Amino acid sequence: MTARIPATLIAGDGIGPEIVEATVAVLDALGSPFEWDPQIAGAAGVKAAGDPLPQATLESIRRTRLALKGPLETPSGGGWRSSNVRLREEFRLFANVRPARTIIPGGRFDNIDLLLVRENLEGLYIGHEHFVQIDDDPHAVAMATGINTRQGCRHILEYAFELGIALGRKKITVVHKANIMKALTGIFLETAQQMYEERYKGRIEMDSIIVDACAMKLVLNPWQFDMLVTTNLFGDILSDLTAGLVGGLGMAPGANIGADAAMFEAVHGSAPDIAGKGLANPTALLLAAAQMLDHVKLGDKAARLRQAIHDTLNVDQVRTGDLGGKASTREYTQALVSRI
Ligand code: NAD
Repeated sequence: MTARIPATLIAGDGIGPEIVEATVAVLDALGSPFEWDPQIAGAAGVKAAGDPLPQATLESIRRTRLALKGPLETPSGGGWRSSNVRLREEFRLFANVRPARTIIPGGRFDNIDLLLVRENLEGLYIGHEHFVQIDDDPHAVAMATGINTRQGCRHILEYAFELGIALGRKKITVVHKANIMKALTGIFLETAQQMYEERYKGRIEMDSIIVDACAMKLVLNPWQFDMLVTTNLFGDILSDLTAGLVGGLGMAPGANIGADAAMFEAVHGSAPDIAGKGLANPTALLLAAAQMLDHVKLGDKAARLRQAIHDTLNVDQVRTGDLGGKASTREYTQALVSRI
């Protein structure tokens, strides 16, 4: 038997434990290559260890360099920063890879196969924000600073170009707002153009588009795009848009990739409104697990998992409530396990 791959498992908050349990059960049926190290974070971390990101959890990821994570709540009050942002920063997870693929045909958009790569550490999300008081209004002026570096741009663009070429993608579209934010997003466009001329011309096509036009075109005709690469804020927004094209957040996975570690998760949050009721759809986290299998070079298992999800949803027509079905999380999971 080949050695199993150590991986940190974070159940998360709200529906997290339910969808993580479902995902682990399906991976087990597939012959899971992972040896899980269960850890806590988010609201569960505060409850058990007084910290949404306990040291033991950080040490586990430092050791395994691989994590599957349920959604985390950042407790309000207490001055906690988002655990998700802290995890990205701590492990320098610079690339957020969010595929959007149609699994259930017959929706508003069919045959969608888009790959969005988002810069995950820089831009307007670095949290340099403050208010300026004028007279008796302490919030009279709000200010935020965005930072994009040449190195950060090169890093994410190189990752995106290499990924696109490795996956046989035809075209990569650089999304920016360099007409208005000439420095902050101009550097991203300029770096992309330079790198393309120097290293990638002839290996993949490249074009560029302003973010607002991109949003409109994605809704009018998403098939004109193949792969998108963009800065932090635009990527966050556009990846929810592309998730909407394929049936919503319940179907949207995301990988956070760094040079030394990688973390896989669903794009959606902890869904407190349905937590503990057995209603959650684990598909997004299952698709994140498929990305994790690809990451550890077990593409055959990833393909089997994606096929089983496809067949359960379309051939067996077993679906959870958010997809118009009647199946509970457990019933859907069992149907999926019998498809593996
Ligand atoms: P949410 O994504 O949790 O829920 C939005 C809506 O979608 C809800 O009606 C919910 O029931 C539904 N939904 C989401 N996932 C579902 C699933 N798998 N199956 C069925 N229905 C699903 O967004 P929210 O309510 O804005 O956020 C709740 C909490 O999650 C907040 O504390 C937020 O900070 C956190 N959050 C965490 C992450 C993360 O860990 N990556 C991402 C987003 C939000």
